[in-house]
Amino acid sequence: MAVGRIGIMGGTFDPVHYGHLVTADEARWRFGLSAVVFVPNRHPPHKDPRDVSAPEHRYLMTFLATVTNPRFSVSRLEIERPGPSYTIDTIHELRRQYPDDDLYYITGADALEQILRGEWRDTAQLLGLCRFIAANRPGYRLDPELWSSVTGPLREHLHNVHMLEIPAMAISSTDIRARVRDGRPIRYLVPEAVEGYIVKHRLYAKAQPADETAGAHASGRTAPSGGDA
Ligand code: ATP
Ligand code: MG
Repeated sequence: MAVGRIGIMGGTFDPVHYGHLVTADEARWRFGLSAVVFVPNRHPPHKDPRDVSAPEHRYLMTFLATVTNPRFSVSRLEIERPGPSYTIDTIHELRRQYPDDDLYYITGADALEQILRGEWRDTAQLLGLCRFIAANRPGYRLDPELWSSVTGPLREHLHNVHMLEIPAMAISSTDIRARVRDGRPIRYLVPEAVEGYIVKHRLYAKAQPADETAGAHASGRTAPSGGDA
């Protein structure tokens, strides 16, 4: 039986942006993946939950960003699993859902660095269960010594890690949140529907004192703080 290849793009997606979408699509093309499943996490183990938007907002933005691509879909697997979202639990579940397919977990260089340092739960087991595709990301240069410093069971699975060159996208969710807060534009950094969702739900906008919104922006109920985004 022909074995299919499924890509998995995990992340916080707060918000999802074109860096995520380009990475997923380039991985799909380069590795012949039949589909890419985006998996927004519920509680990223490395982040303070108070600093992260509600899972449902992040799920819906990811849905909006991927809905027109027939090869992209979004899973509620992590959103609905209580507690910290460990990738190892997700991969076990996806292995059950796709028993005959090869799984390719897609990340950026920053996430690969954490993996090579063994900072993810059960990293060695994880690398044995699926392949990893790591895309270059502006601002993150992988230390070549990191590869040689990997020891033990993790080292045996290093052949499951593949590097992927993508058109450099210097976009991060952190920067997008700061832009919204400062009233700077985010158009062309995120899909239009995601931008509309952010404005509609006033995500990332700093709470403003009532008198600050009076005057020139009195009717600007939906604009975060005067930007044209
Ligand atoms: P934040 O700034 O809040 O951490 P982020 O932009 O890093 O957000 P995440 O949801 O943390 O987005 O990332 C999910 C996955 O996508 C990670 O593996 C990350 O490395 C990768 N990724 C994010 N942005 C890019 C980008 N511009 N180029 C390549 N990979 C990216
Ligand atoms: Mg990140």
